[in-house]
Amino acid sequence: MNYVIIDRGDPLSKQLAEQFHLLAAERGLSRNDDAPTIVISIGGDGTLLKAFHTYVDQITDVAFVGVHTGHLGFYADWKADELEELVRMMTDHEPRMVRYPLAEIQVETPEGTKHYLAVNEFTLKGVDGTLVAQININDELFEMFRGDGIVISTPSGSTAYNKSLGGAVVHPSIESLQIAEIASINNRVYRTLGSSVLLPQHHHVDIMSSKDQRMLLTIDHLNIQRSDIRSIRCSVATRKICFARYRPFPFWNRVREAFLDYDGK
Ligand code: NAD
Repeated sequence: MNYVIIDRGDPLSKQLAEQFHLLAAERGLSRNDDAPTIVISIGGDGTLLKAFHTYVDQITDVAFVGVHTGHLGFYADWKADELEELVRMMTDHEPRMVRYPLAEIQVETPEGTKHYLAVNEFTLKGVDGTLVAQININDELFEMFRGDGIVISTPSGSTAYNKSLGGAVVHPSIESLQIAEIASINNRVYRTLGSSVLLPQHHHVDIMSSKDQRMLLTIDHLNIQRSDIRSIRCSVATRKICFARYRPFPFWNRVREAFLDYDGK
């Protein structure tokens, strides 16, 4: 088994990465940055997002494992003091492969179409003022949006930015996209539904710029600012992110531990 580590870059994560390399070498695991089968992220959820985007072109060939250095993360289920056990599990056991849906986006610009994948979400915001956009669902006008922005999240991203906007928490076995509004303005010209909307796997949403405006597109933790985005189309991606699970990590337990169990009690 070939593995690679992406760490957060802080002293603790770097030290844990070194420790993992030593333990892995003792047990015959090979380090391979170019063609890994397991990508280990050491840090937090943000580090997993970074790891995903580093290996996005090999996404069908790799599985992810998350180690957290602080609080339990949504994508990071191993604790810093469990590295020995993780290495032992990686050498002695076959993992269960758990696949989560991704969101796919096509961005139309004068230079052509660009494609991106997100694990958590895409957001579209206005840079100089409110975002003004027409929203079509399955090629039919749905609403005219004016407000701070729009967040389109995956099921596993539903507990991130989407949740802060009052969106629903969606189990990752439900292949869907959730559209949530950021501070929409409602009047006679601009009218939005006001609640978040869940689209099934075979639907798509287009967000079309309705004025000359600079837009900020975020893809998970990445920012792209452009004045020439004409429209974006989002749908559930055909590819998925795969997690190698060496022990159970049920989604609803993570939701409870992250949002309901204060100090783990
Ligand atoms: P960051 O350092 O600002 O961390 C954001 C927080 O979101 C961290 O606590 C992280 O653990 C948590 N998080 C990330 N993915 C999660 C998930 N799937 N479920 C529950 N919590 C999750 O930024 P970062 O580490 O670079 O992460 C980028 C993410 O931050 C974005 O994908 C977005 O979801 C989130 N974000 C949230 C808000 C908000 O809630 N108001 C605003 C901007 C970005």
